[in-house]
Amino acid sequence: MHELSIAQSVIDTIKKNVPSDLLPKADKVKLQIGTLSGIELDALTYSFGILVQNTAFPQLAMEIDLKEGKGQCQACGTEFTYNKYGIPCPQCGGFSIKIIDGKQMKIINITMK
Ligand SMILES: [Zn+2]
Repeated sequence: MHELSIAQSVIDTIKKNVPSDLLPKADKVKLQIGTLSGIELDALTYSFGILVQNTAFPQLAMEIDLKEGKGQCQACGTEFTYNKYGIPCPQCGGFSIKIIDGKQMKIINITMK
């Protein structure tokens, strides 16, 4: 499952970057996920909830900040909100859309208790 490996990589990143004496105090990890990332948020939350139980920081919660996608029409240059593939340009109806934003998945921060 795609989301399981993403959840694992989030946990690995936390292990690598947070000093081990601080891990028991880690409260919440905040992720930014684009609407065009293809990630199932429910599946990711579920996977994370299971995997985190087998770490030194089972108390860690995950918060997802959903980022709107943005596309640019290659015919007329219009930039518009683009949260789903296959939507035409609102200006000219063109279907040649370049994705500018919305495919990301990144950790924004980890807050401590
Ligand atoms: Zn256009």
